[in-house]
Amino acid sequence: MRIANVGGRAKLIVERGLAAVDVADSSGGLFDPEPAALFDRWPEFRAWAAETLSADGDSPLESVPFDPDRTGPPSPAPRQVFAVALNYGDHAAESGHAPPADPLIFPKYLSAFSGPVSQVVLPAGNVDWECELVAVIGRTAHHIEEADGWSYVAGLTVGQDISERVLQRKGPVPQFGLGKSYPGFAPTGPVLVTPDEFADPDDLAIGCEVNGQRMQAARTSDMIFPVPALIAFLAGVVTLLPGDVIFTGTPPGVGAGRQPPVFLAPGDDLTSHIESIGELHQRFVAAY
Ligand code: ZN
Repeated sequence: MRIANVGGRAKLIVERGLAAVDVADSSGGLFDPEPAALFDRWPEFRAWAAETLSADGDSPLESVPFDPDRTGPPSPAPRQVFAVALNYGDHAAESGHAPPADPLIFPKYLSAFSGPVSQVVLPAGNVDWECELVAVIGRTAHHIEEADGWSYVAGLTVGQDISERVLQRKGPVPQFGLGKSYPGFAPTGPVLVTPDEFADPDDLAIGCEVNGQRMQAARTSDMIFPVPALIAFLAGVVTLLPGDVIFTGTPPGVGAGRQPPVFLAPGDDLTSHIESIGELHQRFVAAY
């Protein structure tokens, strides 16, 4: 199943991604229109959607054409947003670090969220790209087994952990959260895809291009700590809540890891993509 946030309303995406069905209208008001509210009732919503879609034979659900470029974040109001540093071995190496023994977690702040297509104002400093698989939590998790990790995931989407490297690394110790939370630094979308839709949710092609030039190309199976391991690790400390968002780390190929380093400039176009999910498109502009 695929869902999207269209104009602040939750939609089921049908007809191979071409059409959208309004969840609140087609459920007769059983579910709230707001996408954020769905996650608190995710198992119930999944059951309703499965029944509704399988019954959609002779009497098609009322649908409208779906444009993935005109969507908002699939989980627009998470109570917690986690991100993972150095979760691909070759990215750790290009960053000058050994692979971590345990997941390295930092926050991104909600005001940085946007939908999949946006214009991003460049702050001072060195702004870099990090294409990432993003997992959204579908039910409360605390002290869980890694083997059960996928059962806590509502779905997967594409994310960019856009990063200003000077602020990120400034100080006696780095402070990742702020340097990665300027307005527009956390685009996600265009759809949320449930784990059962993938042949293997642990092995997806991921990558990005700047002005059409390939910068990152990897597979999510290269992660040091795969999605279930990240969820078990996080849930060993905090309580993960429905709708929470986890940026799972970036593969190699970031601008800071290049010789010489490459950073985003006004007029640059960034396209980010993950197999079987979709694309993000960011255009960068000067502050003045
Ligand atoms: Zn990142």
